[in-house]
Amino acid sequence: MAKNEADVERAEKPEYGFDFSAGRLCLDFVNTAGGTRAKPREHLHSYPDLLAWGRQAGVLSDQDAQRLARVARRQPDEAAQTLAGAVQLRETMFRIFTAATDCKRQHPEDMQVLNAALARALAQVRLETTAEGCVRVWAGDGDQLDRMLWPALRSAMDVLTSAEERSRIHKCESPTCDWLFLDASRNHSRRWCDMKSCGNRAKARRYYERHREHADPQEQPGR
Ligand SMILES: [Zn+2]
Repeated sequence: MAKNEADVERAEKPEYGFDFSAGRLCLDFVNTAGGTRAKPREHLHSYPDLLAWGRQAGVLSDQDAQRLARVARRQPDEAAQTLAGAVQLRETMFRIFTAATDCKRQHPEDMQVLNAALARALAQVRLETTAEGCVRVWAGDGDQLDRMLWPALRSAMDVLTSAEERSRIHKCESPTCDWLFLDASRNHSRRWCDMKSCGNRAKARRYYERHREHADPQEQPGR
């Protein structure tokens, strides 16, 4: 496809709005697939989708994203590999997080994939001194195609090494949604990824079921 045609197509296709309500960046990244793992809805179709996620997550500036888009156009094979690697990493992280919630043993192959990606990401961490003290920055010349994944990997390390946070990872209770979230509620009572979508659907379903059962005079009217 000629460069101009590709640009026109990109301009015409509205950018997908990713969700960032999981409470931790690593879980938001895992939630870039919708639906369930049995019936997934993929939202990372192309390398520009990965850039869009990074920009919307606030881990890439507009300038970073534009520069990486240019690199990806020059190196389409590398960009395709980065996308495939990101999707593989996401699915690996999904299995690791869901095993962490169920106290299941982790698969060694999954831990190998995560550790390899983590090693690459953490090799890019630098401390810079400022007037206020040290700040953490990501090194490199900005041309590494997978740099939006590094903060998500660091976030995964932080969550998995905290017993408190690990115990608060939950999967949405909707039968049609596998999104993960960190339950920050005081009594561990959050059940849905999002009250506006899955929570609301569950409420509507309960309402419908109560009314359907309303032939029973004992049944209280639905809320
Ligand atoms: Zn949900």
